[in-house]
Amino acid sequence: MTEQRHRVFSGARPTGRQHLGNYLGAIRNYVALQDDYDCIYCVVDLHALTTLSDTDKLRTWTYEMTLDWLAAGIDPDRGTILFVQSHVPQVVELHLLLSMVTPLGWLTRLPTFKEKVRQQPDNVNYGLVGYPVLMAADITLYKADTVPVGVDQAPHLEFTREIVRRFNRLFGDVLVEPQAKYTEFTKVLGIDGKQKMSKSLNNHIEIASPPEEIQGRVMQMMTDPARRYRSDPGHPEVCNVYSLHKFFSADEVGQIEHDCRNAGIGCVQCKRKLAQNIADYFAPFRERRAEWDAHPDDVWDVLADGARRASAIAEETITAVKDAIGLPERR
Ligand code: SF4
Repeated sequence: MTEQRHRVFSGARPTGRQHLGNYLGAIRNYVALQDDYDCIYCVVDLHALTTLSDTDKLRTWTYEMTLDWLAAGIDPDRGTILFVQSHVPQVVELHLLLSMVTPLGWLTRLPTFKEKVRQQPDNVNYGLVGYPVLMAADITLYKADTVPVGVDQAPHLEFTREIVRRFNRLFGDVLVEPQAKYTEFTKVLGIDGKQKMSKSLNNHIEIASPPEEIQGRVMQMMTDPARRYRSDPGHPEVCNVYSLHKFFSADEVGQIEHDCRNAGIGCVQCKRKLAQNIADYFAPFRERRAEWDAHPDDVWDVLADGARRASAIAEETITAVKDAIGLPERR
């Protein structure tokens, strides 16, 4: 008898073309999880509204991000459900119902909420406060029992677990309490070598970029600040170029480290090598992406089919939740 697979849920805001930080931090994990789990991946466009003032890019960014995910290997033919959050409106309903069992103090005390208030004092909207409740609705609506998280994201999932426990205590064992699957979420620094790679900081390298663009961005990368001349020995452990070599130049990384420490290689040459290896790594990805992009309707069809399959699970959950609460039946 085959054992039932656990179900993973994860979502990401639509941010358009994905960069190396998105890829190394999340997408490659998403792809790998498909081997052992039933996976549900969601473009969380509603979450994006809490911080976006300008929504005219949402559709393009959803499309571009989906293209990158599909080309990277997220594969509906393997059973993965890929869809857009707002296409399954039951999530909004569950969000409201869960908000009724979530004390306001829990939400306003969260460090992430305080951080957002600090970042956007002129736009402290209601959605921002309820963000973790919407996240709990995302996970529980699809009966996911597993959520991939990095160690630093564990408190977010714990919040969902608290809401689930509270709901189940009040209304019976209806919602699935998700468990964390600790995954290595590699933090990638931007080309400035200081801050996390991010589109909004324009310190990113897009994975769909053609080789010449990748080279242009890599050549701008900060290196070991103490290495001022070609003849100075370098310190690869403080160099972001070296960090990326560890992933993209695995066969040569020992040699690069040795040559850097002994001034046997210059930073320009080292960066060219990295740019080449990144471009080679993503060559098959770029081909698959171009194939998908030649048929945009197919991309939207994948999302529509994902929404249909997600809706079927959502409907079961929302019916059970309303029933447990005791809302009057509609005849
Ligand atoms: S040689 Fe390479 S690893 Fe060493 S400091 Fe320069 S760019 Fe960094």
